[in-house]
Amino acid sequence: MDTYCIMQVPGDASVRDSMTQAFDRLEEIDKKFNALNPTSPVYRFNHENSPITDPEIVGLVQTALDVSAKSDGALDITVFPLVDLWGFYGSTPHLPGDGKIQACLKHVGWKNLAIEGGKLIKHRPDMALDFGAIAKGYGVGEAVKVLKNCGIRSALVDAGGDLYMLGTRYGKPWHVGIREPRGTGVFGGMKLTDRSMATSGDYERYFIKAGVRYHHIFDPKTGYPAHGLISATAITPDPTLADAYSTALFVLGAERALKLVATTPDLECVLVTEAGRVLISPRLQKSMAMTDLTLAGQTGK
Ligand code: AMP
Ligand code: MG
Repeated sequence: MDTYCIMQVPGDASVRDSMTQAFDRLEEIDKKFNALNPTSPVYRFNHENSPITDPEIVGLVQTALDVSAKSDGALDITVFPLVDLWGFYGSTPHLPGDGKIQACLKHVGWKNLAIEGGKLIKHRPDMALDFGAIAKGYGVGEAVKVLKNCGIRSALVDAGGDLYMLGTRYGKPWHVGIREPRGTGVFGGMKLTDRSMATSGDYERYFIKAGVRYHHIFDPKTGYPAHGLISATAITPDPTLADAYSTALFVLGAERALKLVATTPDLECVLVTEAGRVLISPRLQKSMAMTDLTLAGQTGK
């Protein structure tokens, strides 16, 4: 998944075995959902147009499609051709010509995916899947399942900013913060138990050209990086949904994101706008402690 993963499990050395099993499960998921791994069914679906029958992959696609429908296509796992065109799979992302971006958009569109008789098919052969917006959250959920099956009742799992807080930490809720989008610290402390929290930000993968920041989260309608927000955090019980919604909220921008959160049960959010304003969903406001958000070191838009 091209990121770190940290697990904290309070206990003695006997919890190590369980943690190893949870890490193994994460690696299994990484291999399966990595669109760049030639042995994965996702790779064959993308390159050879062979349908996907693996129920685990089909299940995660169904979850992604549900969030696509709810977010008016802000989350769209068919963005692979766009991410590829912009060079974000390699080490030197770059700004493509507008003509190429417009041509590429023809290959993007979640409505051209279909699940028929448990099989995932695509209506256009030139489409390809990218699970980058949802697989980490799914992985966190699966890792937590492994820990629970091993009898663990208290843990924090963090895969590159996608977190799950299981139970309590020595009897008190886990205390977590959100990374400052333009700094190295955190802002906005929250106490959570049996909850997940995922953040999408424009600071994870980006390049700056002529003073403009171009990052890795695309608006599937325009083909360009989504703008308006610089950080979007989703808080909800299910880590897969937290991951999917963090990306969707980021793409939607403040106004539409807050509307979606207001109509989605059990979903809360913390958004940071380009201007540095922090917006917290009303139900969450009373339980969140804020520190000043400094946009130190901000470069570009
Ligand atoms: P996240 O950090 O969870 O927001 O996921 C971002 C990653 O998801 C990117 O690196 C891309 O691989 C992929 N991605 C970018 N834009 C979208 C989008 N609008 N919908 C779904 N996946 C996306
Ligand atoms: Mg995400």
